[in-house]
Amino acid sequence: MRIDTSPLLTRIEPIPFSFTWRGEGVDLGAGAELLPPVTLEGACSMNADIFLVEGRIAWRYATTCDRCLKPIEKQVSVDFSEEFVHTEDPEFPDRYLFFGQVIDLTDMATDLLILNQPLQNVCKPDCKGLCPVCGKDRNETMCDCVQDTERENPFARLRALLEQQEEETK
Ligand SMILES: [Zn+2]
Ligand SMILES: [Zn+2]
Repeated sequence: MRIDTSPLLTRIEPIPFSFTWRGEGVDLGAGAELLPPVTLEGACSMNADIFLVEGRIAWRYATTCDRCLKPIEKQVSVDFSEEFVHTEDPEFPDRYLFFGQVIDLTDMATDLLILNQPLQNVCKPDCKGLCPVCGKDRNETMCDCVQDTERENPFARLRALLEQQEEETK
């Protein structure tokens, strides 16, 4: 994933790029597994001594639903705009350093993946999850444990107590 920036020294038009990447060594964390390839598309342009790399990065990953633990696959697509420079400036710590004419996008792509990887994953927005009592998938079967969890609720218990008192005073 290298861009040769030397044409920018003699012409103004941005240099387009399109890469596929295996994402070697990238750990998405939280039990998510990257499904290569990662794709990067965009263009590199130059303004004074700053090289601007803009485009879109997309990847797929395998994980499990946070609620029902079913295996799922998801896709992420993110627009990016990053600056590359030859000399470090403490005022702009987010800029990437590079040497010579060639920009290697590997570090930037690694950062984009890790920063934009979703922390929460559900198989569908209304996934009902697993029953905390019997472990059954509530999307497939409705168990009788619902009442149990309600009884464990202190307010439900209070309500039951009040109802009981009302019964007794009648
Ligand atoms: Zn689910
Ligand atoms: Zn249950």
